Amino acid sequence: AVVKRFAVIGHPVAHSLSPRIHAAFGKQTGIALEYTTIDAEPEQFDVRLAEFAAEGGVGANVTLPHKGRAAAFCTSLTERARRAGAVNTLIRTGTGWEGDNTDGVGLVRDLTERHGLDLRERRTLLLGAGGAARGVAPALLDAGIGDLFIINRTPERADALADALAQPGRVHPRYFSDIASIGTFDLIVNATSATRDAKLPTLPVALAGPRTAAVDLSYGEVAIPFLAWARAAGAHDCIDGLGMLVEQAAESFQRWHNVRPETDAVYAAILAGHDALVTA
Ligand code: NDP
Repeated sequence: AVVKRFAVIGHPVAHSLSPRIHAAFGKQTGIALEYTTIDAEPEQFDVRLAEFAAEGGVGANVTLPHKGRAAAFCTSLTERARRAGAVNTLIRTGTGWEGDNTDGVGLVRDLTERHGLDLRERRTLLLGAGGAARGVAPALLDAGIGDLFIINRTPERADALADALAQPGRVHPRYFSDIASIGTFDLIVNATSATRDAKLPTLPVALAGPRTAAVDLSYGEVAIPFLAWARAAGAHDCIDGLGMLVEQAAESFQRWHNVRPETDAVYAAILAGHDALVTA
């Protein structure tokens, strides 16, 4: 049989866990596949993807900083990718690429099924308005959270995300300068890449309380500053993005192969090899 070719395209991407996760899913389901990494600077996205297609690539994951560009590049979008304005999964079609977004469903599945959280009515703070934030916001709203406050370093992007979500009574863009006066949250999601450069803005401890679940979409060392803040602030659950990573991968895998892989064993294996900060 012909081995199907997949890749994750991002920058930086060398340390991505996606190749290991998809290899494990392939082994588990008996599907032969090749899954590599493509490092592409922002302006190289289109060219590198065209090269990958010419080499027989049939599917790809898209990671930072390309999720927005990927949405504009695709010939068609799923409803959830259109709502997000961000694409993390590409599916080769006869005429180009279909774009999907599995980040949102991946986060919600991790929080509700793996960590047993009830998201309904949770007053939620989303930090960031980049590709990951745009992917998870619609899914969190669909999962029944309460009011959603969005704060981003570049305020225009928080405003644009709030506008796109089109639920003005429920979704509230705010400034970092307001952060001391917006109350306590039941769910705080760090969807910024700020902690990669150890530049997370100062967060008041009053944002978190004894019911709060704090989630960093990144994992490993990158997640430590935010989750350490959350723990010190008294949050009940401190969860990194490793489970979401495995769940969004499973959803992408299902789109490509029409088979749903089992995630628990793969999550445990990745966790064992990766000193993640998970205390839920
Ligand atoms: P983007 O580059 O699209 O967005 C980055 C976001 O971080 C923007 O909101 C940006 O604000 C903000 N930001 C960057 N630096 C700073 C800073 N110094 N201070 C404040 N805000 C800052 O990246 P993504 O949205 O794709 O990824 C964000 C994070 O989510 C990454 O850590 C990524 O690894 C993680 N992620 C994890 C996934 C998982 O499966 N676990 C899936 C997807 C993402 P501004 O608009 O002002 O530039």
